[in-house]
Amino acid sequence: QFPFGRRLPCDIYWHGVSFHDNDIFSGQVNKFPGMTEMVRKITLSRAVRTMQDLFPLEYNFYPRSWILPEEFPLFVAEVRMMKDSDPSWKPTFIVKPDGGCQGDGIYLIKDPSDIRLTGSFQSRPAVVQEYICKPLLVDKLKFDIRLYVLLKSLEPLEIYVAKDGLSRFCTEPYQEPTLKNLHQVFMHLTNYSLNIHSGNFVHSDNVNTGSKRTFSSVLGRLSSRGADVKKLWSDIISLVIKTIIALTPELKVYYQSDIPAGKPGPTCFQILGFDILLMKNLKPMLLEVNANPSMRIEHEQELSPGVFENVPSPVDEEVKVAVIRDTLRLVDPQKKKRKDV
Ligand code: ADP
Repeated sequence: QFPFGRRLPCDIYWHGVSFHDNDIFSGQVNKFPGMTEMVRKITLSRAVRTMQDLFPLEYNFYPRSWILPEEFPLFVAEVRMMKDSDPSWKPTFIVKPDGGCQGDGIYLIKDPSDIRLTGSFQSRPAVVQEYICKPLLVDKLKFDIRLYVLLKSLEPLEIYVAKDGLSRFCTEPYQEPTLKNLHQVFMHLTNYSLNIHSGNFVHSDNVNTGSKRTFSSVLGRLSSRGADVKKLWSDIISLVIKTIIALTPELKVYYQSDIPAGKPGPTCFQILGFDILLMKNLKPMLLEVNANPSMRIEHEQELSPGVFENVPSPVDEEVKVAVIRDTLRLVDPQKKKRKDV
């Protein structure tokens, strides 16, 4: 750890937040320049939209989204048009502030005219997105998947998907959105940081139960229900690859500007956190990409009112230690040398 700057060159640099050190001339850095900007909600939506316009069927894994405030008139017009052509369509929309995380500032609305929307978006850019009303449920609960993806190289594109991830569960049984339950975050939002505050959150030592489980344990459950888990994995992998392809052109621009070809500089790799929601029919939908996914393997426990202690979280440990270990193995410079020989 070098809190006050570094002196000697290293083989691998592990930056905490983003690519920021322009004094690195060799080795490998664990962040790509521009990645944080590229995966913000608005930029990601824009990049995926470009691909949706070109390849609508290939990119149907991302909910229809509009960027606020600039696309508000388009949002109103398109929703009106869709409602006119299909009066039985009763959509719900989710509004997510740009740059927000951990469910911060997110809310659901039934109609573009909702006062919460018209009142707030002027001050804070956001993405408004079609809400997926029929998610796959396990134990009557909505859950999402956090998958860890290693972007090992941009050119050539090299992507590794960790075989296990986390499933984060809501803490109230799911009901399809109605005006009455729209505000119930423990029913609709799967964020750990929100659900931890629900009295129903279950920390578990056993990876198969509780409010945070391994994705492999959920796959086991689905497989025993007869789900085609192989197809699901292949759909997830194709979602990951297509999403990275959508980000690649601009990432290359950032890369060339920070690390120009021909000048000494490091190469980059990065662990990304993909948040994915499964629909009832098992189709995976991309919710968002995290450039700096949490690698914490502990959680806080309240020993007595107001007194907290960090305790190990076996589920996080099982998944995240493997992700870091395998990443280091994949970028190990000694291994590359051996391979070249
Ligand atoms: P944040 O960065 O604040 O976590 P997300 O985009 O991940 O924002 O959304 C937070 C949560 O809201 C997700 O984990 C998921 O449970 C729910 N969610 C987000 N988008 C949708 C959607 N289009 N349909 C259904 N649920 C969604």
